[in-house]
Amino acid sequence: MKRSVKVLLRFDQSSASEPMIYYLAKDYDIVFSILQADIRPGEGGRTILELTGEEEDIRKGLEYASSKGVSVKTLTKAIVWDELSCVHCGTCTAVCTHQALSLDPVTATLSFNNENCVVCEMCVSACPTNSVRTDFA
Ligand code: SF4
Ligand code: SF4
Repeated sequence: MKRSVKVLLRFDQSSASEPMIYYLAKDYDIVFSILQADIRPGEGGRTILELTGEEEDIRKGLEYASSKGVSVKTLTKAIVWDELSCVHCGTCTAVCTHQALSLDPVTATLSFNNENCVVCEMCVSACPTNSVRTDFA
């Protein structure tokens, strides 16, 4: 079964010179997007990748990365609401079909129910004040 996963890879001095992404693509048939990268050959660094491929291939590919001294952390996404910058305009509630974001009809203030959120991210682009954003844990 195909899946996508976001991972944080940390490289030390020696693993930073490995062409890791090349091997993940070539040997494990993993398609990747680089979401963030700060790696200096000979020094180390980190990168956040979105990997797409067969579940088993991703598992083996990440095992391979670990065996080469790369620290691998799978990231899970969550929606974060910044109550301080929110102006309670309600725009996000129009796109939130899971009732995670709702306006109180009496006080006209927004509330966020994390348990209902399916992290579809529709609200992120809808918010004019960037008060909802995606975070990784
Ligand atoms: S769209 Fe943004 S500013 Fe408006 S209520 Fe939602 S979170 Fe607040
Ligand atoms: S990510 Fe989707 S479900 Fe979650 S609060 Fe935003 S619009 Fe609602």
